[in-house]
Amino acid sequence: APLSRSARTYVAGHRGLVGGAVLRHLLAEGFSDVVTRTSGELDLRDAAAVEHFFEVQRPATVVLAAAKVGGILANSTYPADFLSDNIRIQVNVLDAAARHGTTKLLFLGSSCIYPKFAEQPIREDSLLTGLLEPTNDAYAIAKIAGVLHVQALRRQHGLHFISAMPTNLYGPGDNFSPEGSHVLPGLIRRFEAARLAGDPTVTVWGTGTPRREFLHVDDLARACVHLLEHYDDGAPINIGVGQDLPIAELAQLVADTVGYTGQLVFDTSKPDGTPRKLLDMGKIHDLGWRAEIGLAEGLAATVDWYREQLAAGTV
Ligand code: GDP
Repeated sequence: APLSRSARTYVAGHRGLVGGAVLRHLLAEGFSDVVTRTSGELDLRDAAAVEHFFEVQRPATVVLAAAKVGGILANSTYPADFLSDNIRIQVNVLDAAARHGTTKLLFLGSSCIYPKFAEQPIREDSLLTGLLEPTNDAYAIAKIAGVLHVQALRRQHGLHFISAMPTNLYGPGDNFSPEGSHVLPGLIRRFEAARLAGDPTVTVWGTGTPRREFLHVDDLARACVHLLEHYDDGAPINIGVGQDLPIAELAQLVADTVGYTGQLVFDTSKPDGTPRKLLDMGKIHDLGWRAEIGLAEGLAATVDWYREQLAAGTV
């Protein structure tokens, strides 16, 4: 059923890539009572603070996009932080929402919850059928706990909470930090810096052979509202584009988009991660949603956005 545009809607994590896009989309769609808090105003790892926030605000709808996230290096270097912060954020928000009248909640996970060697494209029902990719298993376990928590709240309290699993995301508002970022913003930053400096080579992590799928975050934001309105089941649902490419090809596409003409060098001392994680789109396509922003177009827009931030000194 359509969400009420006047019902109070809380976007957790609105300063992040996903939450920021969801917030822009909700405002553009005419949602008139959207509540947000920065992490400085409300630390979602603090159970008492979260309880108090929900008791006072009582949002009818919640999009849980707050999480500790990072690329392959950050995940494998700080597994304890990824596990602990994410479990605490989820438990606090899900339990407080359940106690204080939230009627619809979307919990966002990640495609890394699926087994490392799941059959491709990965269907939702492959969850918990095999071992995880070790470079991000701590993060994955936290997100799997969130999926189970949503299912348990539905069973025990009859709540209409749902979980969605986006593929690799990119777009304006991404984290472009050299060590912590995911591959796409990491490469945009390095190719742009090399172009400006006239460097003859740019290093790409790993062998270049792993395949990844990339969804523009504005497409994801549309999917989030679509699912809140048209999906009401405890099983997770994938959100992606249904197409992937090797990292080497992605790197060349970034180089071309940025206008870098030098050589690409592969640093095989860096981890490759999972060989492939293409998500099956059958379920969400059946619900009438599909991605609209192609990679070339979305990448060009993201490079423009990054250059504006560079010029303004905000990245
Ligand atoms: P993953 O999808 O969880 O593995 O996360 P990432 O986006 O961090 O990495 C995707 C793939 O891109 C991995 O095979 C990385 O080794 C590779 N890669 C190549 N260059 C980079 C880079 O500069 N940063 C990151 N994060 N990954 C890179």
